[in-house]
Amino acid sequence: MLSSYHIAVLPGDGIGKEVMHSAADVLAAVAARTGFTCRLDYQPAGAQHYLDSGVALPEPTLRTCERADAILFGAMGLPHVRGADGTEIIPQLDLRFHFDLYAGVRPIRVFQGLPTPLAHPLARSIDLVLVRESTEGLFYARGRGDVRSNDGVVSEVYDTMKISRRGTARICEFAFALAQRRAQQKGRLARVTNVDKANVFASMAFWRAIFEETAARHPQVTTDNAYVDAMALNLVLKPWTFDVLVTENMFGDILSDLIAALVGGMGMAPSADIGDRHGLFQPAHGTAPDIAGQGKANPTAMLLSAAMMLDWLAVRASDPRLAEAAQLIERAVETVFAQGTVRPMEFGGPHGTPEITQAVIAALQVVP
Ligand code: ATP
Repeated sequence: MLSSYHIAVLPGDGIGKEVMHSAADVLAAVAARTGFTCRLDYQPAGAQHYLDSGVALPEPTLRTCERADAILFGAMGLPHVRGADGTEIIPQLDLRFHFDLYAGVRPIRVFQGLPTPLAHPLARSIDLVLVRESTEGLFYARGRGDVRSNDGVVSEVYDTMKISRRGTARICEFAFALAQRRAQQKGRLARVTNVDKANVFASMAFWRAIFEETAARHPQVTTDNAYVDAMALNLVLKPWTFDVLVTENMFGDILSDLIAALVGGMGMAPSADIGDRHGLFQPAHGTAPDIAGQGKANPTAMLLSAAMMLDWLAVRASDPRLAEAAQLIERAVETVFAQGTVRPMEFGGPHGTPEITQAVIAALQVVP
């Protein structure tokens, strides 16, 4: 247990700044109620900072993240701001690689009082976590693309997927540990579904072999395998049948957006990027330039990401106050939507960032 927690705060671009404002207010409210202290250490980074200074992720920001107990991240990247190779400025990927944040954890669940695009009655029970390997897979090719030319004209480009024994074993172990923790919390059997394309690629057949080796070390966990194309289908047809999914970086990138849609939109999907030494917590959405600066963003994904941060810190620092604070944020968000008085603009309602934030803070004072 620490007397004060040092949080590196990187609001970033677009709605990242707006939802971070919301998270800071909610953290202050929950800290006051549970009796812990945290110092929010704001640091510049992102596409706008790149435009202003020529650097997207300044060295002092990186150093602060290194020293901090956790990193809270808004969103970064603007469509019109591009590097020399034509790709967007995305410092979050640099942070993942720099801090070896190999486990991308994306939980989703349907909140009472909010609609889901799926009509099936069981859709109300959707509650699953996608675990995305975040340091290799196809994203390993980022910045390493092999561009070949013929007579000065680009003729072929290769992006190579990397699947290593170490990288796959550690993400599978992470998924199994998470499934067991969830099973304990929810009073049910642990289950992990592996998602790959082992029928086509040698790299994916290797991934599956490592998954099976990991499964053999955890006989108490139920497991199954799915091809990513079939999983895309089943995540729409029967997502309530899944608990923990584990998959390669690129497949995880795509399926994360798909599962966010199942619960109504990006504004409801939190995430954590976890390594052995560091943790970064950010909403699954991007900077949403279409609604930025208008107070329209749904801050829920950011607030639930802050709750994930507290939950992670609670275990690392053996601090039950933080575990309680994480649960209080979850319960406050649940209460606000269940009461039906707040409906985010993302769901066609009238409420934007300030209204949702105020409602969550009010609920924080009264939820048990
Ligand atoms: P990235 O490539 O970084 O994921 P993107 O622009 O492709 O960025 P998002 O920024 O996540 O994707 O936005 C996708 C859509 O979801 C946009 O229409 C955006 O307005 C909407 N959206 C994203 N986050 C929120 C939010 N918190 N509240 C309301 N709408 C959101």
